[in-house]
Amino acid sequence: MDKRSSEHERFMRTALEEAMKGARSGEVPIGAVVVLDGEVIGRGHNLRESLKDPAAHAEMIALREAAGHLGMWILEDCTVYSTLEPCPMCAAAMVQSRVRNIVFGARDLRWGACGTLYDIARDPRLNHQCKVTGGILSEECAKMLREFFQALRSKGREMGGGMAEWSKAGDSKSSRR
Ligand SMILES: [Zn+2]
Repeated sequence: MDKRSSEHERFMRTALEEAMKGARSGEVPIGAVVVLDGEVIGRGHNLRESLKDPAAHAEMIALREAAGHLGMWILEDCTVYSTLEPCPMCAAAMVQSRVRNIVFGARDLRWGACGTLYDIARDPRLNHQCKVTGGILSEECAKMLREFFQALRSKGREMGGGMAEWSKAGDSKSSRR
């Protein structure tokens, strides 16, 4: 394994730990971290249920923390790791804050905006494009989501997120740039 992919896996594990924190508090287990020069400067997990906030996605929380850490909203040398492919809202926030790299785990067939449903992160019409790498620890990231929803189903509960399908992200165009 080369240095880059072992670094990607290391930070994706940190994002998975965040996702696990979410799962323990009844949130859909998605986690994200923002890394600058090898240091985690922002972390977050999904908090939609706890905060009753439709924008409280893991990535938004991690981006806010990173911006607070740096004292500015421009995050141009940062890499965002997310266990699930960012949605349109989060991908747009990353473009807006000029994040350099987006690294995600599982592909999101329902909301993915980094190559699956949309490609907001690399849309040439916008003033910034992020470099996208998908499929890092995708099986572990998808498994955490599957198990969460299986547990919910066995409890007979329903949640707004629904039964999405999460697939391995590395299989098609996610790493083309
Ligand atoms: Zn999102």
